Amino acid sequence: CGIVGYTGINQVLPSLLKGLEKLEYRGYDSAGVYVSNGAAGDFLIREKGRVSKLEAATKGKGIAGTAGIAHTRWATHGGVSVENAHPHMSEDGRFYLVHNGVIENYDELRDTYLQGVTLHSETDTEIAVQLIDKFSKEDQLSTLDAFRKMIALLDDNSAYGFLLMDRETPNLMYAAKKKSPLLIGVSDSGNVVTSDAAAMLDVTQNFIELMDGEVAIIDKAKVTLFDAAGQEITREAFHIDIDA
Ligand code: GLU
Repeated sequence: CGIVGYTGINQVLPSLLKGLEKLEYRGYDSAGVYVSNGAAGDFLIREKGRVSKLEAATKGKGIAGTAGIAHTRWATHGGVSVENAHPHMSEDGRFYLVHNGVIENYDELRDTYLQGVTLHSETDTEIAVQLIDKFSKEDQLSTLDAFRKMIALLDDNSAYGFLLMDRETPNLMYAAKKKSPLLIGVSDSGNVVTSDAAAMLDVTQNFIELMDGEVAIIDKAKVTLFDAAGQEITREAFHIDIDA
């Protein structure tokens, strides 16, 4: 339902929680956050119910890190539970994914590719992150190529805004969308990805629109965009004026 992510020079958790609060008006049943702190460890916290409950659950855990992703979920596949809340994690804890939308052919993908993988949720989203992990391992693909290979397997009726992190590159986020909005926000102190600019206006007012089929790699100080054919492209940011 709602997506926010940030990579930059500031602590990420406050911006993510504030962003989720601004997305609350859209409705949701659970919320979660992943903060990456490289070799120092990382944090995955998910809760049913309000963002305030998620925020309370993050207290006292020493969560530190300057990159992370967060989500408010509106369940479409699988009931409302902590296990079904996003971010979803790959089997060995390397990849973390938040997703808005629906993967229509997820059961077919599971049966074809994920026999033998222990799944921890009932969601369509978990299938996507387990596929990325599988392709990166078995086909020795880069994270970008594994992400792309997963996307290429989604049937035409699927809709997605995806935001992915890889523990091995803790400053990077990978984004892609189809029939579900995602914007990349840029600033001198870091870059964001969000499904709704309103959620991240405190961090930046400058956004690059991501188009259907495109994929982006977002680093602290750099955004790289690829078109559906994999060619690198450039797009200017637009500015959102906010009245004080
Ligand atoms: N289909 C996903 C799920 O049920 C994502 C739903 C959403 O957009 O929040 O977990």
